[in-house]
Amino acid sequence: MANFKTHLQVASISSGLASTLFYSSGHLLAEEAFLCWIMGTFGGLLPDIDSDNSHSLGILFGAFSVTACGFTAVAWIDAWPLIWVWAACTMVFIAVQFGVRYVFARFTRHRGIFHSLLACLLFMFITAIGAAFLGAGGTMSWFLALFLGFGYCIHLLLDEIFAVDFMNVAMKRSFGSAFKLFDYRNITTSGIMAVAVIALYFLTPSYAEFVAILFDKDTYAGLATGMDW
Ligand SMILES: [Zn+2]
Repeated sequence: MANFKTHLQVASISSGLASTLFYSSGHLLAEEAFLCWIMGTFGGLLPDIDSDNSHSLGILFGAFSVTACGFTAVAWIDAWPLIWVWAACTMVFIAVQFGVRYVFARFTRHRGIFHSLLACLLFMFITAIGAAFLGAGGTMSWFLALFLGFGYCIHLLLDEIFAVDFMNVAMKRSFGSAFKLFDYRNITTSGIMAVAVIALYFLTPSYAEFVAILFDKDTYAGLATGMDW
């Protein structure tokens, strides 16, 4: 199993490189590329939400509770007196930091459902919907979701790579437990998550322009421009 530091380094380097690709192609502004880089790095830590490691959980739920406060403020700032908004933010912060965190620490199994592509899709859709709610356009929302998913997949792959014992060319028992489509050992939970993913899909912002950018070969032309061999 790859450790926290490895996950952080690999996710931050690879999503940093990926963000420069879309910056150089002119599809992301500098500040957007920076946000994508942050999302990719965060995605690289996110699957370990099912671990009981206090270090990973501390960072993930620190980010979650602050984000939840941001959403609360944006949702109510025009409708409520500011003092109410502050009170609501405090309550949301406490609920996420202690309540939700406790539920995750208590009820999830490490390398269970959250180490799967299904969970990756769930978090990608939540990201796209959340970004659109905060006012981002459809394409930018999907870029943020893409980077989160990219970091997430890198994490799952790293976990698998570290499950191979290179010295003895043997597979450790954990091999196959990280990069999987869904949790084969827990079909009920996987089913519930699949239903949630499908429901969330219908709430996601429009992705036509985003998909066109991804499949446009000009997007990747910058990779080799200036090289004349
Ligand atoms: Zn992991």
